Amino acid sequence: MVTDDPGVGPRRSKLHRVRVHVISDMEGVAGITKWEQVGGGEPLYEEGRRLYTEEINATVRGAFAGGATEVVVTDCHGAGKGWNFNSLIPELLDPRCEFVVQEHWTEYTGFLEEGCHAALFVGMHARAGVRDGVLNHTVSDQSWQNLWFNGVLVGETGINAALCGSWGCPVLLVSGDEAVCREARELLGKDLVTVRVKTGLGRFSARQLPARRARERIEEGARQALQNPTAVAAYDPGRPCEIEVEFVSTDAFDSFSRKPGVEVVNERRLRSRADSWWPAWRQFFF
Ligand SMILES: [Zn+2]
Repeated sequence: MVTDDPGVGPRRSKLHRVRVHVISDMEGVAGITKWEQVGGGEPLYEEGRRLYTEEINATVRGAFAGGATEVVVTDCHGAGKGWNFNSLIPELLDPRCEFVVQEHWTEYTGFLEEGCHAALFVGMHARAGVRDGVLNHTVSDQSWQNLWFNGVLVGETGINAALCGSWGCPVLLVSGDEAVCREARELLGKDLVTVRVKTGLGRFSARQLPARRARERIEEGARQALQNPTAVAAYDPGRPCEIEVEFVSTDAFDSFSRKPGVEVVNERRLRSRADSWWPAWRQFFF
């Protein structure tokens, strides 16, 4: 069948491609307040996966409604075992997107390297130690206490934003609980679109929106965010860049301290320095 519609097919995508990276985590999804909902193999995990996948679908719908022509989703949730970065339910995913399963967090940079117009973060949680942050933690719920980029205390929103920023890609949307929305605006600026789907009452309790309403808000937030692609600058923690991590326990310190280029600050604190964030992160984290 021949179509004259210029909006269909490869012609349109060549003329104006809008490439959107959806980066997702699980703890910030509406309906999720417990580790048992985000840990691979736990009885509550299957429910958590469905809630998670549908918030991602809401983001994907909003992205396409907002003009995206290509959407790639990367799961950044370490659920444990074979579920690490592999919590999405493929058969439920919006068929218009593609999705990446990583072996290690922050290793997939291919879509960013090809050139990405915007990143949308969904299901995010606050950094470790934020009292109203539902399931608050930074990288590991057991072994990391604090993380700084050039002296600025950050959480996983900061890590993912710096990753995107390394290839000039701005973050235009962050969804999750009130604490992570606040954290993201403080880091990325007040013009960032944030969607609050719950308000933490503690680390494992929250006042929440029902899933369907949360998805409506996320879809609308994603659509809106893409209307103003210059509202937020790509995040760069600064050059040169110094990353410091304070661990909870000495065993985690030991495993990271053996890496070349990593400096010991004290017996629970390490430092990694480079000309910019990405090499400083890479020499420390991988
Ligand atoms: Zn997670």
